[in-house]
Amino acid sequence: MQPMDDRDGFIWVDGDIKPWRDVNTHFLTHGLHYASSVFEGARAYNGQIYKMQDHHERLHLSATFLDFTIPWTVEQINEAAMSVLKANNIVDGYVRPMAWRGSKAMGISGRNNTIHLGIAAWEWPSYFKAEKLMSGITMDVATWRRPDPSTIPCFSKAAGLYMICTLSKHEAEAKNLDDALMLDYRGYIAEATGANIFFLMDDGKLHTPKPDCFLDGITRRSAISLAARNQMQVVERHITYDEISQASEVFLTGTAVEITPVGQIGDHKFTPGDFTVRMMKDYQSLVHGEFDVTLNKVNIPSLSS
Ligand code: PMP
Repeated sequence: MQPMDDRDGFIWVDGDIKPWRDVNTHFLTHGLHYASSVFEGARAYNGQIYKMQDHHERLHLSATFLDFTIPWTVEQINEAAMSVLKANNIVDGYVRPMAWRGSKAMGISGRNNTIHLGIAAWEWPSYFKAEKLMSGITMDVATWRRPDPSTIPCFSKAAGLYMICTLSKHEAEAKNLDDALMLDYRGYIAEATGANIFFLMDDGKLHTPKPDCFLDGITRRSAISLAARNQMQVVERHITYDEISQASEVFLTGTAVEITPVGQIGDHKFTPGDFTVRMMKDYQSLVHGEFDVTLNKVNIPSLSS
């Protein structure tokens, strides 16, 4: 694979479109030393970014959780993201905006620092290899747990939250598995390392963990709307690991993974079936603009209480 810093193309940074290889940050950058950075991952289909407004609103919200304000409005970020696609001639691809505290000052406090915004885009057809999309991916059960909301700003899509995702993914890869299921601090099923999870249970309903300590994904909320459109009842609740044995079909949802079937979690095996295939097809129709769905508002306990 071509290294990420050595590619042709253009990246939008702080208001300008610059040649890809010229976009560098200084070693003494607050975001690098203290993880004061937030990001998004969106996908473009046929030249349109699916749920672009929601992604960029979430980027703003993520920054708020880290006590900074992005000095570009959501509308300006929308425009910038579209200009990045155009500059790189990308019609189907992945869009990665990131906002971070800069190098004006060094130290724990970030208040007096500059805030930067960059947006890159590249072609990224599928997160998992095609054959996995048929048989389902294999998942480890991570030793790391999603933390208590009082210990970290867990509703922010902040770089710092991904430290344990990387470690969990490494553990899984060392066992030749594709990804890892993370439990939360209470032992309930939470999510994968970069995606949410759904279970078709033996009561005929679709169950998914209640997102009270992890990201309530845009794809997750899209999948809930798609399921409802197919008269499938969705139950959002705390799910224990033992309950996995009652699931017949399991799939992940996320911008990068889209809807990906799961074939194995720990010792539990599943066969991707009709329902998952239906959801995968519907999701492709949705993101390609054949129809639209309204997403439930993201439920953030600390904001609503
Ligand atoms: N959880 C984590 C940890 C993620 O990184 C992602 C991907 N952004 C998701 C869930 C799914 O979110 P979305 O559907 O908004 O991409």
